[in-house]
Amino acid sequence: MSSIAAIVAEIAEEMRGETERGAVASYIPPLACISPDKFGIAVVMVDGTVHAAGDAQEPFSIQSISKVFALTLALGAVGDQLWRRVGREPSGSAFNSIVQLESEQGIPRNPFINAGAIVLCDVLLGRSEPREAIGQMVRFVRTLAGDDEGSIRIDEAVALAEQDTGFRNMALANYMRAFGNIHAPVERVLGVYFHFCALAMTCCELAMAGRYLMNGGRVDGHSIITPSRARRINALMMSCGHYDNSGDFAFRVGLPGKSGVGGGILSIVPGVASIAVWSPGLNGSGNSQLGTLALERLVQRTGWSVFEPRA
Ligand code: GLU
Repeated sequence: MSSIAAIVAEIAEEMRGETERGAVASYIPPLACISPDKFGIAVVMVDGTVHAAGDAQEPFSIQSISKVFALTLALGAVGDQLWRRVGREPSGSAFNSIVQLESEQGIPRNPFINAGAIVLCDVLLGRSEPREAIGQMVRFVRTLAGDDEGSIRIDEAVALAEQDTGFRNMALANYMRAFGNIHAPVERVLGVYFHFCALAMTCCELAMAGRYLMNGGRVDGHSIITPSRARRINALMMSCGHYDNSGDFAFRVGLPGKSGVGGGILSIVPGVASIAVWSPGLNGSGNSQLGTLALERLVQRTGWSVFEPRA
């Protein structure tokens, strides 16, 4: 067993015994019913080796982690023009906060808060139909993950529940439309947004899908995005990937990472590994309690923090 394999197995074992597991998201029934006992971890190394442990093969709702893939597609669609409509600063506010939008004229702080991701959906929708934008996303994520069988899918029950309870997202979208920063009808944009949130993936699939970000934009010999865009997406994941907890994640883990309220985190060690962890219990800021702890232990034992001197 390689030492990384041993560390991954050891961390999964330690997480099994943890009693402080956080609270499972309760805003929609399909998330509220997930057992807090779940924990999965998958590490894909730059040479393609995969180390996985725990519930790494169980699909979960990736929620806001989809914002990374939406950003990648939106940059592909409109390039750096995107930055006229979305900022690149940490918000210091909750994921669904509306407060900054008023003083900042409807320009969201960054693409990884809800308001920012709703703008990404508007960009991707363009003049097409919502189902085309949703289909494009599913195909993109399957390609990134090397999912030839098409097992990655959208959980329609989650998408519907998001729609039924998404009043704050509706408020954000309408508010930005009032400032002219949402162009398509709000219901269509949100239909896309809710379906992106409802993507279901396993840790193994998610870690595979993150490979382009560890590899300077390339995967399986194909260029997905330019090296400079991959670097910038990683920078945004580091500074904005954990809402108002992003500073703490950088402090504890020191890697680009994006979390979702389903309890998943995608984290990238540039040039070394793509990592996905999942445990549905969340800390007070809505980030996976054990997922963060597992990543903290992984970087302590591997020296993978980007702030660690390279040998
Ligand atoms: N579906 C959630 C929302 O938009 C996503 C939040 C998240 O994962 O942070 O409210």
